[in-house]
Amino acid sequence: MTASAEQLDRDDPLAAMRDLFALPEGVVYLDGNSLGAMPKAVAAEMRVAVDEEWAGDLIGAWTKDGWWLLPETLGDLAGAIVGAAPGQTVVSDGTSINLHKALSAALDARPGRHVIVAEAAGFPADLYIAEALSAARAGVELRYLAEGEPLATALSTDVAVVLLSHVDYRTGALRDMAPETAAVHDAGALMVWDLCHSAGVVPVALDDCAVDFAVGCTYKYLNGGPGAPAFIYVAARLHAAARQPLAGWWAHAAPFDFERGFRADRGIRKFLCGTQPVLSLRALKPALELYVAVDLAAVREKSMALTQLFIDQVEARCAGHGLELLSPRSAERRGSQVAFTHPHGFAIARALIARGVVGDFRAPDVMRFGMAPLYLRYRDMVDAAAALEEVLVTEAWRAPEFQKRGAVT
Ligand SMILES: *Cc1c(COP(=O)(O)O)cnc(C)c1O
Repeated sequence: MTASAEQLDRDDPLAAMRDLFALPEGVVYLDGNSLGAMPKAVAAEMRVAVDEEWAGDLIGAWTKDGWWLLPETLGDLAGAIVGAAPGQTVVSDGTSINLHKALSAALDARPGRHVIVAEAAGFPADLYIAEALSAARAGVELRYLAEGEPLATALSTDVAVVLLSHVDYRTGALRDMAPETAAVHDAGALMVWDLCHSAGVVPVALDDCAVDFAVGCTYKYLNGGPGAPAFIYVAARLHAAARQPLAGWWAHAAPFDFERGFRADRGIRKFLCGTQPVLSLRALKPALELYVAVDLAAVREKSMALTQLFIDQVEARCAGHGLELLSPRSAERRGSQVAFTHPHGFAIARALIARGVVGDFRAPDVMRFGMAPLYLRYRDMVDAAAALEEVLVTEAWRAPEFQKRGAVT
């Protein structure tokens, strides 16, 4: 087994990418779906941003160093990763805020319809945003799609917008974007895709699928750094009529005229709000630029092979210890993560972290292992499965230090 993993690493067309990332010695990092590893180029880039741009150019950096245009220039880079032609994506604010903008704009674009459809088992933060929006707007109703329920059952003529996660944050299940978007359109509604767990690791074709809106994180598989601003995509055909609820001065057609009344920009800048965190945007820039040379089809192929090798290794080594595969068994139906349930999942995940195998845990009993193909090796899958086997066989997870939950899991 080990020999074949080493052979796979030797034959891996993406193997050289690993050297572009800073990774601690002796750690198998399977949490790139929560916080991606740091691209080494970020350190030098931050020194330029701080010492030359901020310290040297001061206020002039907004134009001289392109700070003012970063939401658009980085937006186009992010857009290219998810199949969007330029001018339809901006990087700004957080995913939650961008989701509020997208859902609100979609509701306004479908007058006479009043239902938002969202997955009952979706990411809780997305649901908080959808719930708050429906509570704040008279007549708007939030309809939940139960886990496993076909989308068609929720698509009545009163639906204005459907929100779906391309990859489920817990199970790793991958939805089929083209037919589901088409079904939503056939029902007369608009489509919002959450790409948090697919951007950078699953090929996405927003334009080709005629998607209306999409939002996504840049600090997960896109490696943009803690709290890196998120992206929002709005199809060009919707720009002229779209209304964005957080219309700040960065969304104004002439922001430096300081007009008394708001006049929206006609393009994607309409989806900005106010001043953006420039240092975070500057850290994100090299992370997105790194993707210009990345073949996402090769990433997807490696991602499917990594998740499959991990599942095969875990099931061969850990049978009889109470693990259940929560992720789809077919690689085509999975994103780039593998989830197993176990009644003692929290303690097991902690014991693994103590052994340098960093995954995470999601209540109530899910252990998640995110596979970032740009910096993981096949041998890491074997090592991680071996560590899991050791933790289960020795019951090392029973140690008191692995039972205590901190503020962050
Ligand atoms: C990670 C994630 C978020 C995070 O939103 P923030 O506003 O960046 O905190 C939102 N939705 C989904 C589906 C996620 O996976």
